[in-house]
Amino acid sequence: LDRRLVPAGSLLFTAGQPGDAAYLIVSGRLEVFLERPDGDLVLAQRGPGEIVGEMAILDKRPRSASVRALEDSALVAITEQQLAHRIAETDPILCMCLGVVLDRYRETVALLEHMKGSAPPPAEAKSHSPSGPTANDAFTSALNTLVLEREIRDGVRAGQFEMHYQPIVRLSSRRLAGFEALMRWRHPHRGMVPPVEFIPVAEASGLISELTAFALAEAGRVLPEFMLAAMRNLSWIENQLFMSVNVSGHDLAAASFPQLIADLIARTGIEPDRLKIEVTESMLMRDPERAAAALAECRLTGLGVAIDDFGTGYSSLSYLSTLPITTLKIDRAFVRTLLTDRTSRRIVQTILRLADDLEIPVVAEGIEQVEEADLLTEMGCALGQGYLFGKPMPLDSSIATTRS
Ligand code: C2E
Ligand code: CA
Ligand code: CA
Ligand code: CA
Repeated sequence: LDRRLVPAGSLLFTAGQPGDAAYLIVSGRLEVFLERPDGDLVLAQRGPGEIVGEMAILDKRPRSASVRALEDSALVAITEQQLAHRIAETDPILCMCLGVVLDRYRETVALLEHMKGSAPPPAEAKSHSPSGPTANDAFTSALNTLVLEREIRDGVRAGQFEMHYQPIVRLSSRRLAGFEALMRWRHPHRGMVPPVEFIPVAEASGLISELTAFALAEAGRVLPEFMLAAMRNLSWIENQLFMSVNVSGHDLAAASFPQLIADLIARTGIEPDRLKIEVTESMLMRDPERAAAALAECRLTGLGVAIDDFGTGYSSLSYLSTLPITTLKIDRAFVRTLLTDRTSRRIVQTILRLADDLEIPVVAEGIEQVEEADLLTEMGCALGQGYLFGKPMPLDSSIATTRS
């Protein structure tokens, strides 16, 4: 810890100095003040549990006021770098609010200086362009995020979200084995908005839980319809279809998630092993222990668990064997380069061997060419998904494909 002792009466820093650290007050008492020709103007006193000097390192401008110790004081420094990293990780809206608060405070200090007649009027004092969290892009980014969050919330109520279904086929027979449900947003002005544009915002704002609940409910609703359609076409459709639904890390982290799954299964009467959730490998790696516990609880219902985008998340293979998973999905990046790149082919081979050891099936994503499908079949990959077999389609078209 970067500890600092300031004897009573001495200065910690003075107004106008560049700021490189803020200080947590462990003990003692300090005074924040502006130096004036006619005597100091005291702005505040700070004691244990409080902080001094945070302004300058938040907006990277010179110290706005001076600080001196009234008693012998012990401080712990928070450096500019420690804070910069945290601000970079912070939600844009929080960042924006922080910037506004800082600006207001600086304006107040400038106004006080001006009233005492020792500084130019606040308008001039403020005229150098702000940096740090108050910058223009923070504003734009916060505004866009707020608008989008609002639109997602309204869109859920207005029924603008819908699920599309992409076929997954058994490679050895090329018969339909199941579907992955992929979310679409039919925005009133912007048309069809792809998930990459709204899923991350929904995750950051907590709205994802509503979207996931919707996706799961839809899956439970349509799976019987698919099954019914499939029964008329057993020649090229397996007699048991599955439905795979994408689930985010925020969903898994919620204590209520396993119950949500159990309720869905009880309510719809679908066979639990016909339903799978897809969780990305990178998301699992963020908090592996917690994810493993949540997945294990979900597995108790009999639900399938697929690891999505496998091969991109750098998880250790030994760790994988401890997870209660029932399917691996090889990321599209490896399939795309399978025919041309020996390294991808070797990675795919390794994943297939691993899955074989774990006795779980593999789905290869993003198959666009017959040659890719054939090679993957030869390599022993059980299932395939991609534009070659079908793009994600709305329910009616998807059901229609089961008849053709
Ligand atoms: P993902 O789970 O990896 O889904 C596969 C993506 O690859 C889908 O994009 C799909 O349309 C696309 N794809 C499938 N086959 C091919 C192919 O042959 N070629 C090419 N170029 N692309 C193919 P989509 O629908 O845009 O979804 C993108 C991502 O958004 C998904 O990646 C998933 O991470 C997320 N997502 C989609 N729906 C949901 C949802 O309901 N909930 C959550 N949490 N995430 C979702
Ligand atoms: Ca997926
Ligand atoms: Ca995927
Ligand atoms: Ca993906």
